Parts: sequence; C-alpha cells; structure tokens
Amino acid sequence: MIVVLKPGSSQKDIDHVSQLVRERGLKDVVIVGTDRTVVAAVGDERLVDMSAIESAPMVERLVPILAPYKVASREIRPEPSVINAGSGMEVGGRKIAVIAGPCSVECETQLMRVAHAVKQAGAHGLRGGAFKPRTNPYEFKGLGEEGLKLLAKARAETGLAIVTEVMSIDQVDLVAEYADVLQIGTRNMHNFNLLVAAGRTRKPVMLKRGWSATLNEFLLAAEYIMNEGNNDVILCERGIRTHETYVRNTLALGIIPAIKRESHLPIVIDPSQGTGHAYMVPSMSRAAIAAGADGLIIEVHGDPEHALTDGAQSITPEVFSNLMSELDPISKAVGRTV
Ligand code: PEP
Ligand code: MN
Repeated sequence: MIVVLKPGSSQKDIDHVSQLVRERGLKDVVIVGTDRTVVAAVGDERLVDMSAIESAPMVERLVPILAPYKVASREIRPEPSVINAGSGMEVGGRKIAVIAGPCSVECETQLMRVAHAVKQAGAHGLRGGAFKPRTNPYEFKGLGEEGLKLLAKARAETGLAIVTEVMSIDQVDLVAEYADVLQIGTRNMHNFNLLVAAGRTRKPVMLKRGWSATLNEFLLAAEYIMNEGNNDVILCERGIRTHETYVRNTLALGIIPAIKRESHLPIVIDPSQGTGHAYMVPSMSRAAIAAGADGLIIEVHGDPEHALTDGAQSITPEVFSNLMSELDPISKAVGRTV
C-alpha cells in the first residue's frame, strides 16, 4: 500500500503516518518527492486493514499495490490449476470441460433421456438442480433428495460427472454424498458461511459469480473456500445485472482474460443463465471458448417448451450436438481440445 500525503505535509505529519503504518506490523519507507511525500507500507498488506489510515488529516489517499486475494491469486501459483472434478472430468487442463443437462431435475424419464443424449454428443459432466433457488417462491423448487438420487443413477448409467447446486449449509453433507461437484449459485456467492462449509468438504466447488459482484469480490469468495483447505474451486461466469433488458443477464466474457491474468483457477462460462435465450447459447458458447474459457455449463432439455424451469434458455439435445461439433475447430484454434 502506498499512502499519499497532502501537499505541504510537515515532518511531524510524515512521522505520524509512518507510525500508523508500523502499528499495523508493516515497514514504513518514506519517499520524499518534489511536491508530494508518500509512505510505502512494505509487507503483506492483505493481512491487515489499512483503510482507516485514510482518515488521518494529512493523508490524501491510499493506493493498494497487491490485490486483496492471496491463495486464489496467480502470484502464489503461476501455473494454472487443473481440477480433478470426479468421474474422469478435469477442468483447467488442455481439454475443455463441457457440462450439460437440464436446469432442474424434473423426473426420471426427462433426466435419463437428456443425460444419454448429452453423453452421446460428447459432454463430460451432467448438470441438473435438485434444490432450486427461485426468485418466485410459488415456482418449482426442485425434487430435493429424490433429484439427487436420479442424478446418481444418471452417473451410473452414463459415467458423466454430476454438478448440482447446494443452497444452504444444512444441505452440504447430503449434496456432497451424491454430487461430484458442488455448485454454489449466484445468489449465494456472498453467503460466506456456506462457502466455508463447502470448503470443509473435499468436493470440488463450482462457484458462480454473484450477479452484481466485482472480480475482486468473486476471487475473495473463492478465497473463503480455499482457506478451508479445499483448493478445487472452479469459477463460473453466469452473467451480471446491467441496465439491458434485452437479455436476462449480460454475459461478461471479458472476465475470462481478467481471471487468467489474476488467478490460477479455471473459469467456466454459463451461456444459458448468461443470456436467458436459447438462440444465443451456441454463439456465446463459441465466443467463450475462443476467449479462453476452460469449460461450459449449458442447459439442455428434451422438451424446452414444457420445462419446469428455464425453458426459454434451454437448448435441445440436437442443437447441443451441433454445437459440440462447432466447438471442435474453435478449441483447436486456441490450442485446446473438446
Ligand atoms: C442454474 O444453474 O440453474 C442457476 C440457478 O444458476 P445461477 O445461480 O447462476 O442463477
Ligand atoms: Mn437455470
């Protein structure tokens, strides 16, 4: 952190700021310039709260040098993390991970049909919510444990890795019993107690970015999970809230190169929640892979018109199969395979 002093600060002012820095366990290095004096606080500023120094009257502003996240940061691990996501699925390696399936598990016939279809088309993981966070409390909230059992059955039949959402701390053990990857949804990214509980399991976690979270907040949320000793965190961009009403969310693909610069964790894109419209899903999937995403999580439904949740953004197995063929040359062009 650099503490910039106001012009005309006296030696007494400089000494006072140096003292504030030392009180926080950091070393003070004073740099006297022609019109400004700054005090550099040397040490790991991420471990101390420096913000109160700004309230000292001679301080103009604080300039952070290090990003606030630590274990998720690229500085501590320059090479990308490859997550073994279970059932043979890897995320973050050369091979792009494709997770596909319905928004919600609705019944056995629906799930098994779509699971076999996406497997046939080349998917590596099966998605499907058994516990659904609903904005409207009167809508379908999932089958609960029954849905988890159907997902486990689909894994046994297809070999696909299961990615499914956990909404609360009391569901963590139950969902971890059935899932390969625990999904933490956008509405729960700031639920720090849930992040800690998921971090205490040894299951990989797919952490979705909060729809109004900054990149800093997103990586700090990942940090909560990793601080419990669980380094298997897969980041997921699922779109953010903007003024635009044309799409359900604005899919911020710019986060892909930003995450690649800032973190060693893999990033997966959800073009389904990210657009809200099935017709946009193939093009945004192609764009995500071209931009360097490590994977995709896509909603696929055998009968989108009758889907209990998110039918408008669900593609059919046929569209998914065509998309997989289109992703092949794009993956190769960016040095990956699908
Ligand atoms: C979902 O994947 O169906 C879902 C509810 O995702 P999100 O948390 O991104 O809204
Ligand atoms: Mn959905």
